[in-house]
Amino acid sequence: MATIQIFDVKQNAVVNVERVDKPDSEWQKLLTKRQYEITTKRGTEAPGSCPFDDVHGPGIFRCIRCGTDLFRSATKFESGTGWPSFYEPVSPLNVVEQPDLSLGMVRTEVLCARCGSHLGHVFDDGPPPTGKRYCMNGFALKFEAEESPLRRTA
Ligand SMILES: [Zn+2]
Repeated sequence: MATIQIFDVKQNAVVNVERVDKPDSEWQKLLTKRQYEITTKRGTEAPGSCPFDDVHGPGIFRCIRCGTDLFRSATKFESGTGWPSFYEPVSPLNVVEQPDLSLGMVRTEVLCARCGSHLGHVFDDGPPPTGKRYCMNGFALKFEAEESPLRRTA
Protein backbone atom coordinates (compact mmCIF):
# COMPACT_ATOMS: atom_id res chain seq x y z
CA MET A 1 0.00 0.00 0.00
CA ALA A 2 1.27 3.41 -0.93
CA THR A 3 1.71 5.85 1.92
CA ILE A 4 1.06 9.57 1.65
CA GLN A 5 1.39 12.51 4.00
CA ILE A 6 -1.65 14.51 5.04
CA PHE A 7 -2.31 17.11 7.73
CA ASP A 8 -4.36 15.84 10.68
CA VAL A 9 -6.24 18.64 12.44
CA LYS A 10 -6.79 16.82 15.74
CA GLN A 11 -3.12 15.95 16.06
CA ASN A 12 -2.17 19.33 14.56
CA ALA A 13 0.56 17.53 12.64
CA VAL A 14 1.48 16.01 9.30
CA VAL A 15 0.93 12.26 9.50
CA ASN A 16 1.63 9.28 7.25
CA VAL A 17 -1.46 7.41 6.13
CA GLU A 18 -2.12 4.63 3.67
CA ARG A 19 -3.77 5.64 0.44
CA VAL A 20 -7.40 4.47 0.20
CA ASP A 21 -7.91 2.69 -3.09
CA LYS A 22 -11.15 0.79 -3.70
CA PRO A 23 -12.81 -0.32 -6.94
CA ASP A 24 -15.91 1.61 -8.01
CA SER A 25 -18.10 -1.38 -7.22
CA GLU A 26 -17.06 -1.21 -3.58
CA TRP A 27 -17.69 2.53 -3.31
CA GLN A 28 -21.11 1.93 -4.81
CA LYS A 29 -21.97 -0.34 -1.87
CA LEU A 30 -20.56 2.03 0.76
CA LEU A 31 -22.10 5.28 -0.46
CA THR A 32 -25.56 6.60 -1.26
CA LYS A 33 -26.39 6.90 -4.96
CA ARG A 34 -25.84 10.66 -4.92
CA GLN A 35 -22.56 10.43 -2.96
CA TYR A 36 -21.34 7.76 -5.37
CA GLU A 37 -22.20 9.68 -8.52
CA ILE A 38 -20.44 12.83 -7.29
CA THR A 39 -17.32 11.35 -5.74
CA THR A 40 -16.70 8.47 -8.13
CA LYS A 41 -18.29 9.62 -11.40
CA ARG A 42 -17.29 13.29 -11.01
CA GLY A 43 -20.88 14.44 -10.79
CA THR A 44 -22.16 17.79 -9.57
CA GLU A 45 -25.01 18.22 -7.13
CA ALA A 46 -27.79 20.70 -7.89
CA PRO A 47 -27.04 24.11 -6.34
CA GLY A 48 -28.60 24.49 -2.92
CA SER A 49 -29.19 20.75 -2.51
CA CYS A 50 -26.76 20.43 0.38
CA PRO A 51 -26.60 23.74 2.27
CA PHE A 52 -25.27 22.23 5.53
CA ASP A 53 -28.09 23.81 7.51
CA ASP A 54 -27.12 21.67 10.48
CA VAL A 55 -23.64 23.12 10.65
CA HIS A 56 -23.11 25.46 13.57
CA GLY A 57 -19.92 26.57 15.22
CA PRO A 58 -16.38 25.51 14.52
CA GLY A 59 -15.55 22.17 13.01
CA ILE A 60 -14.02 20.28 10.15
CA PHE A 61 -15.42 19.20 6.81
CA ARG A 62 -14.06 15.77 5.99
CA CYS A 63 -14.02 13.51 2.95
CA ILE A 64 -17.21 11.42 2.89
CA ARG A 65 -15.25 8.44 1.56
CA CYS A 66 -12.09 8.28 3.68
CA GLY A 67 -12.52 10.85 6.48
CA THR A 68 -9.53 12.99 5.52
CA ASP A 69 -9.69 16.50 6.98
CA LEU A 70 -10.41 18.86 4.08
CA PHE A 71 -11.75 22.26 5.16
CA ARG A 72 -12.14 24.19 8.42
CA SER A 73 -15.50 25.83 9.05
CA ALA A 74 -13.61 29.09 9.62
CA THR A 75 -12.67 29.17 5.92
CA LYS A 76 -16.26 28.67 4.68
CA PHE A 77 -17.88 31.71 3.13
CA GLU A 78 -21.20 32.59 1.52
CA SER A 79 -20.46 32.55 -2.20
CA GLY A 80 -24.07 32.83 -3.35
CA THR A 81 -23.54 29.90 -5.73
CA GLY A 82 -25.53 27.31 -3.77
CA TRP A 83 -22.46 25.14 -3.27
CA PRO A 84 -20.41 25.02 -0.06
CA SER A 85 -17.45 27.33 -0.66
CA PHE A 86 -14.15 27.69 1.15
CA TYR A 87 -11.14 29.93 0.60
CA GLU A 88 -8.53 27.32 1.47
CA PRO A 89 -8.12 23.65 2.33
CA VAL A 90 -6.84 22.43 5.70
CA SER A 91 -3.50 21.84 3.98
CA PRO A 92 -2.28 21.68 0.38
CA LEU A 93 -1.24 18.12 1.27
CA ASN A 94 -4.84 17.02 1.72
CA VAL A 95 -6.14 17.83 -1.76
CA VAL A 96 -4.97 17.26 -5.31
CA GLU A 97 -5.67 19.92 -7.93
CA GLN A 98 -5.58 18.98 -11.60
CA PRO A 99 -6.71 20.49 -14.91
CA ASP A 100 -10.24 19.60 -16.00
CA LEU A 101 -11.01 20.36 -19.64
CA SER A 102 -14.45 18.72 -19.68
CA LEU A 103 -17.65 20.50 -20.77
CA GLY A 104 -15.62 22.82 -23.02
CA MET A 105 -14.25 24.74 -20.05
CA VAL A 106 -10.83 25.11 -18.49
CA ARG A 107 -11.28 24.40 -14.81
CA THR A 108 -9.23 23.01 -11.94
CA GLU A 109 -10.65 19.89 -10.39
CA VAL A 110 -10.15 19.26 -6.66
CA LEU A 111 -9.78 15.71 -5.40
CA CYS A 112 -9.14 14.12 -2.01
CA ALA A 113 -5.42 13.36 -1.79
CA ARG A 114 -6.00 10.11 0.09
CA CYS A 115 -8.80 8.38 -1.81
CA GLY A 116 -9.07 10.30 -5.08
CA SER A 117 -12.67 11.32 -4.44
CA HIS A 118 -13.95 14.09 -6.72
CA LEU A 119 -14.81 17.03 -4.46
CA GLY A 120 -15.45 19.95 -6.82
CA HIS A 121 -13.45 22.73 -8.49
CA VAL A 122 -11.34 25.69 -7.43
CA PHE A 123 -11.63 29.14 -9.00
CA ASP A 124 -9.62 32.36 -8.70
CA ASP A 125 -12.53 34.62 -7.70
CA GLY A 126 -12.60 33.94 -3.96
CA PRO A 127 -12.27 36.35 -1.04
CA PRO A 128 -9.11 37.33 0.87
CA PRO A 129 -6.77 36.12 2.16
CA THR A 130 -6.26 33.57 -0.65
CA GLY A 131 -8.49 34.84 -3.47
CA LYS A 132 -9.47 31.23 -4.08
CA ARG A 133 -12.96 29.78 -4.18
CA TYR A 134 -13.07 26.06 -3.48
CA CYS A 135 -16.51 25.24 -4.85
CA MET A 136 -17.38 21.90 -3.30
CA ASN A 137 -20.14 19.34 -3.51
CA GLY A 138 -21.73 19.06 -0.06
CA PHE A 139 -22.46 15.38 -0.66
CA ALA A 140 -18.72 14.74 -0.95
CA LEU A 141 -18.22 16.11 2.58
CA LYS A 142 -19.26 15.35 6.13
CA PHE A 143 -19.08 17.84 8.98
CA GLU A 144 -17.75 17.15 12.43
CA ALA A 145 -18.09 19.84 15.09
CA GLU A 146 -15.07 20.46 17.25
CA GLU A 147 -15.42 18.72 20.56
CA SER A 148 -13.09 20.92 22.50
CA PRO A 149 -11.73 24.37 21.76
CA LEU A 150 -8.76 23.45 19.63
CA ARG A 151 -6.14 26.01 18.92
CA ARG A 152 -6.95 27.28 15.46
CA THR A 153 -4.44 28.98 13.29
CA ALA A 154 -5.49 31.48 10.69
ZN1 LIG B 1 -11.00 10.88 0.66
